[in-house]
Amino acid sequence: MSNESRIDRLLSTMLGWAEPKRAAAAPGEAGFGLPAFAASDRVPESVPMTVVEHPDGRMSQYPPADRWDDWVEWDGKRWPERVARRYMLIPTVCFNCESACGLLAYVDRETLEVKKFEGNPAHPGSRGRNCAKGPATHNQTYDPERILYPLKRVGERGAGKWKRVTWEEALTDIAAKMRASREQRRDGIMYHVGRPGEDGYTNRCIGAWGVDGHNSHTNICSASARLGYSLWGGFDRPSPDHANARVILLISSHLETGHYFNPHAQRIIEGKMAGAKIITMDPRLSNTASMSDAWLPTWPGSETTVLLAFANYLIQQDRYDKEFVRKWVNWEETLKAIVDGQLLIANGQRGDAGAASAISNLQSSISNSASALSFDLFDQALKLLYADFTLERAAAEAQVPVERLRECAEWIANCDGKLATHVWRAASIGNLGGWQVARALFFLNVLTGSVGTPGGTSGNEWNKFVPKPYKSPPAVDAWNELQLPHEYPLAHYELSFLLPHFLEEGRGTIDVYFTRVYNPMWINPDGFVWLKALRDEEKIKCHVALTPTWNESAWFADYV
Ligand code: SF4
Repeated sequence: MSNESRIDRLLSTMLGWAEPKRAAAAPGEAGFGLPAFAASDRVPESVPMTVVEHPDGRMSQYPPADRWDDWVEWDGKRWPERVARRYMLIPTVCFNCESACGLLAYVDRETLEVKKFEGNPAHPGSRGRNCAKGPATHNQTYDPERILYPLKRVGERGAGKWKRVTWEEALTDIAAKMRASREQRRDGIMYHVGRPGEDGYTNRCIGAWGVDGHNSHTNICSASARLGYSLWGGFDRPSPDHANARVILLISSHLETGHYFNPHAQRIIEGKMAGAKIITMDPRLSNTASMSDAWLPTWPGSETTVLLAFANYLIQQDRYDKEFVRKWVNWEETLKAIVDGQLLIANGQRGDAGAASAISNLQSSISNSASALSFDLFDQALKLLYADFTLERAAAEAQVPVERLRECAEWIANCDGKLATHVWRAASIGNLGGWQVARALFFLNVLTGSVGTPGGTSGNEWNKFVPKPYKSPPAVDAWNELQLPHEYPLAHYELSFLLPHFLEEGRGTIDVYFTRVYNPMWINPDGFVWLKALRDEEKIKCHVALTPTWNESAWFADYV
């Protein structure tokens, strides 16, 4: 490996200090220098390319899959010189956000270096399309500051003094600390995940360690929305079929700027090109909002009221899918709960005598027909339950014109079972009781019969294949109070954002703390509390940062 960094060489070249030098990188040693590529003894052939047509008529071309093992093309960087390169095109996955879009790595057949990353047209999610971060994976592979081998702290924690150690040394030392902890207790090892990048494998390992040690960042991110979905049907994220929807209802700007960004964004636009109406609730005029037919800059915290106003619009006008609701909703239990007094129909904001007598009549009708409850009674109950959620009330609370809400309600009423919805996630995590946003949003799917339909919304696990491991460790019967303290019995996911506070209060200590592609000092709003905890070797005795790149928290690790 050259001691001269790529930046030094680049600067030398740019400033004219020296002729550019090419590093003699050994095959397969990405990151140790500039990649080298071999000249091909063959020239590119003219072959029919795989064509992907985009909704706006543009086309992209990709090498056909049967040529991926041995693909020859001209090196664009050497133009106008004609230099052919010979590659293996290896399917891989982008790790730069949770979308996990498909990429094709162009790997030089001789030097085994990666020339570039392009989209993979065979990937079912991204279908060959990527955002700019996908092909930029190359920058990470050859980042001059990429961490290429285990580092062990040699100075004070946070002093930035490290020495290179072998994997054997690192693994032996860390494993010994884990074993010592495990012999003492079952809550001393913690694995704190930022980006898992896999589907359950780590949990098998943690289970095999026999500790209650899985911690996630979910409570500062998606836990609220997940709870709202879980309460509907046990799945915790939605999978909307935007491409076939008639109405796409989005809360927060996330779909075109964050999670699931590229695979969803392209399908939202496909739906739009096919005539779908897009409604976006977001205080910001986001990218998504700017592409919408209706932008509802709802006052933060008012989203649930707006959604229930849409629901009430459908209910009062008898424009909900009664057959779907009759078949799939536990309406008989709801009626029984009304009679038993478990579910109160409040004589809410209207407070008029007519409403009070309607409620009382309904309760006696339900009591009198307890053995043969009819859906008609449930319909009456729905009308009373949601009567207070008028469009006028929602408009006042959300500070959005009532006409615009009425227009959206009409679109939803006419969606014909094709309502694609998604909340991710500011509205749900940023407001007290935000879990109700996801709950009320999916209520609209239920009322319109848009559940599991083409153009509707499914549970995230309904169309996803996750292979089951052939053997798993038994469920862990330990409990870590630093993750789920007993005074938060309804917590949905670990209270990880409070971890340094729990440590500060003296609730416990951590023997071995793994951060996995996770930078808690940066992610959490109170970074200095994390800094204090990460510095404290009494509270966090060994911190192992699993990351290929430096971040603020890794700086305060014992091993990187
Ligand atoms: S949306 Fe962009 S960053 Fe996210 S996985 Fe796809 S290509 Fe990568």
